[in-house]
Amino acid sequence: MPTNKVTTRFAPSPTGLMHLGNVRTALLNWLFARKHGGRFLLRFEDTDADRSQAQYIEAIRRDLDWLGLDRDGTELFQSAHADKHSQALGQLAKEGFAYRCFCSEHQLAMDRRLAASRGLPPRYTGRCRVLPASEAETRAANEAFVWRLAVHDDAGEVVVHDTLRGDVSFARRDLDDPVVSRSDGSFTFLLPNAVDDALDGISHVLRGDDHLTNSAYQVWLLLQLGHVPPVYLHHGLLLGEDGSKLSKRSGSHSVAELRDAGLLAEALLQAMTRLGHANMPEDADIAALMAHFEPQHLSASAVRWQDDELWRWHTRLLHALPVAQLLPRLQAVLPDANADFAHLVQGNLQRIEDALHYRRLLDVQAALDADALLVAQEAGEDFYAAAIGAWQAHGEAGWKAWAEAIKAATGAKGRGLFMPLRVALSGATHGPEMSHIVEFLGPLGVEARLQDMHARVRA
Ligand code: GLU
Repeated sequence: MPTNKVTTRFAPSPTGLMHLGNVRTALLNWLFARKHGGRFLLRFEDTDADRSQAQYIEAIRRDLDWLGLDRDGTELFQSAHADKHSQALGQLAKEGFAYRCFCSEHQLAMDRRLAASRGLPPRYTGRCRVLPASEAETRAANEAFVWRLAVHDDAGEVVVHDTLRGDVSFARRDLDDPVVSRSDGSFTFLLPNAVDDALDGISHVLRGDDHLTNSAYQVWLLLQLGHVPPVYLHHGLLLGEDGSKLSKRSGSHSVAELRDAGLLAEALLQAMTRLGHANMPEDADIAALMAHFEPQHLSASAVRWQDDELWRWHTRLLHALPVAQLLPRLQAVLPDANADFAHLVQGNLQRIEDALHYRRLLDVQAALDADALLVAQEAGEDFYAAAIGAWQAHGEAGWKAWAEAIKAATGAKGRGLFMPLRVALSGATHGPEMSHIVEFLGPLGVEARLQDMHARVRA
């Protein structure tokens, strides 16, 4: 793939929130552009005036910013190029590459039924393609029509040079005469998308292989207009966890939803960059991943999304997060959290909310998890009385000496010894090492929690 002067783009239609599939497309194009010192543009394909909404434009910007996918140049809006699209269509029509089609929906449905009954594919019959230009001109004054591209032919082929698949050739006999402009004058996807790529100087288009046939039409269209088509790469689609097409039902999330769930943006980048890409090193930050990123290594077959993998990255990154970044996140769920607390619990968090299990470390009065209370009740009043006595006598000597003293006084050992102590001090049945907890709480903190637990199990 030639990589001098790379310009890629992310071209969302602002008709909904960004989902995982959009993230992947944006990310791959961004990685490729940035890796080669090229440009990454954002183009809103907003020609569907009814469905395009300002709130989605805002949401897409916000999601890209959150992910750190920075853009070059000014934002592009497809609707601003309407005159260029009409010009292109005019040129195609003048040269006989596009024609008006007056066939009604009813007629087309009958054509399709007839084709099906003969075991033929549901292609347009070409009925209006052979109308004399003067007749088409006259009918256009009072009849509804669409514009079609005159692609279908008995001979010849259209070749899409695909970076993953090599040259994919489409016999024109298998291609249709696609509609490029509807009866209300609006354009379908094919023409504006391709013409804008040419006008915006897009050198490379990385997109899902559901666009492969579109690319055949677009290559044909661009060549008739005298443009050089971009270099295409069609990667395998991203599927839901269950192997079906990504949709809300198969577990696709919007970026907004993941952000609201507290996900670290880098976790999404890590999981997504590795997805369907061979040979990515396990230990690598985004810059290192970018260095390893080779579009040729992307899978041409479909890949499945895995939530577990996403959250595994989240946990891993959470454990490595500088305390200055961790603390504000902790304080969002536990306002009293401080830096020492953050250090203490960091390695025990899979998600930020897990810190709530340890709220007793900050506040003796905090409610106890049910399983913790059960452990304490099983240990009983006498155990805690002994633990308090041992603490007063041996606490200064540290965790080990204290535990030994309780063991000697009560006969408790192993889990039966450690678990009630863990629960009393931290409020949870799992968590940081006891010696660290003892150190964090200090002598007064430890005693306060023991007294409190003693009172609770007596009550
Ligand atoms: N607006 C198109 C889409 O959202 C862009 C496809 C492309 O990347 O060319 O599917």
